[in-house]
Amino acid sequence: MHEMSIIQQVVNSLNSELSAEEKYQVSNIILHLGELSNVQPILLENAFKAYQEASADYVHTRLTVLQIPVVIHCDQCGEDSRVKQYVFKCNNCGKPSTNLISGEELLIHKIEFFDPFKLQ
Ligand SMILES: [Zn+2]
Repeated sequence: MHEMSIIQQVVNSLNSELSAEEKYQVSNIILHLGELSNVQPILLENAFKAYQEASADYVHTRLTVLQIPVVIHCDQCGEDSRVKQYVFKCNNCGKPSTNLISGEELLIHKIEFFDPFKLQ
């Protein structure tokens, strides 16, 4: 159910940005999903399908979920490190860091539209 409310928020923000005509032209919604957001891409995709069936809105739209790796910044040496297995440690000098650069985001990265000239 968590995923459904995320989809609802995505749709709400599209609805507030787009005109009625533009809404029908959306071909692809690209989401950035941080690895720390505790959301499975497949569950988001399924929730979007359920939304499409229930609402008949955005029926020709694809949902693309891009997972964003967890990256921390080290204040000791200035290096950025990719976090794996929840080990928040600098890969360069080994100091622990919780200074997150990415990995928690859940946002609309990009909206793509059908090419109106190709539709005709
Ligand atoms: Zn370091």
